[in-house]
Amino acid sequence: MLNWENPLDGLAGKQSRSSFSAAQAVFTPTPCQKPDGIDSAAGEFQIFSSASHGATGLESIEIGARRIQVDDKRIINCRADLNQLVPFKYRWAWQKYLDACANHWMPQEINMNADIALWKNSAGLTEDERTIVKRNLGFFSTADSLVANNLVLAVYRHITNPECRQYLLRQAFEEALHTHAYQYVVESLGMDEGEVFNMYRELPSVARKAEWALPFTQSLGDPTFCTGTPEADQRLLRDLIAFYVIFEGIFFYVGFTQILSMGRRNKMTGTAEQFQYILRDESMHMNFGIDVINQVKIENPHLWSQPFQQEIIGMIREAVDIEIQYAHDTMPCGILGLNAPMFENYLKFIANRRCAQIGLAEQYPGAANPFPWMSEILDLKKEKNFFETRVTEYQTGGVLSWD
Ligand code: FE
Repeated sequence: MLNWENPLDGLAGKQSRSSFSAAQAVFTPTPCQKPDGIDSAAGEFQIFSSASHGATGLESIEIGARRIQVDDKRIINCRADLNQLVPFKYRWAWQKYLDACANHWMPQEINMNADIALWKNSAGLTEDERTIVKRNLGFFSTADSLVANNLVLAVYRHITNPECRQYLLRQAFEEALHTHAYQYVVESLGMDEGEVFNMYRELPSVARKAEWALPFTQSLGDPTFCTGTPEADQRLLRDLIAFYVIFEGIFFYVGFTQILSMGRRNKMTGTAEQFQYILRDESMHMNFGIDVINQVKIENPHLWSQPFQQEIIGMIREAVDIEIQYAHDTMPCGILGLNAPMFENYLKFIANRRCAQIGLAEQYPGAANPFPWMSEILDLKKEKNFFETRVTEYQTGGVLSWD
């Protein structure tokens, strides 16, 4: 039987109990902790105020401090011990961790022989199809690394909840798997690695997306940055939206659609299968991010001001324009069943969904989905409503089926 009551209750009169009766734990502060009321005796700080400066999980341990309660937990600016996963407050985060683990896969498990034969056959693919494969590997090979760095070096420190951190750790590993998968494809096909991995610095339409996202993570990665003021908390929320809703939720979609479309036409099927596994992970990353964003909004409604909402709408609209440009640059002539104008519609349709998922008005009335097969396999089934408890299509060792 689990017991979350204070172990020292009932020991009234013992000296150890009285010395730990304060509700707040004792911290050895990190650079981000600037308590309003402090007692710095013996090099430690007793925090008296209720001002919201987050814990890190690296505070010194206090023997006998009261046990953590569910209501102590908060997504940001939580001051309770972050090393205790339970009691659960955000079960959706824990469930996503379990679902993600049930989804485990490795890039080497996917057979690349058909792709190698097709890529090496000079008549196997058109130049436009080769351009699509190369530019998408160019974008994604560094993009998932950027996402991983944002998670580990910027976001993780400021998300003060163990359930969410547990998922972030899993997500970080999945980002590593994705970078691994792109490298595995590049290596299998015998591509010029230097060309692929430098594309985000050398090809404007690829560079533009990384360039757009970087400032959001740079401000959080600053070691002097800490949450706890409305401005700082909005910076964190802005970064979460930039990466989860826009980078993973909009900037990934042209490339995924292009590669999966080739797979549906029996071309580059191994690469397409890698991308399908990756996108299955990515839709869960995005759903997790959207749940976190919405929970932060619920717990901190003052952050979601009208000017802030307008700013976010501006970010989403700018991102759609950037991704439309990427669609034009990756397929100047179009390929069978796909052309750039179709992607304009698709991106507006996707952007409307993203807006709705975080509580903003749809920005592109009437935008229709020109790729219903994408919704069938990617968007709609995998994207669930906020706080829905299960993602039913996820299976341990999931075997993907092509229709
Ligand atoms: Fe991701």
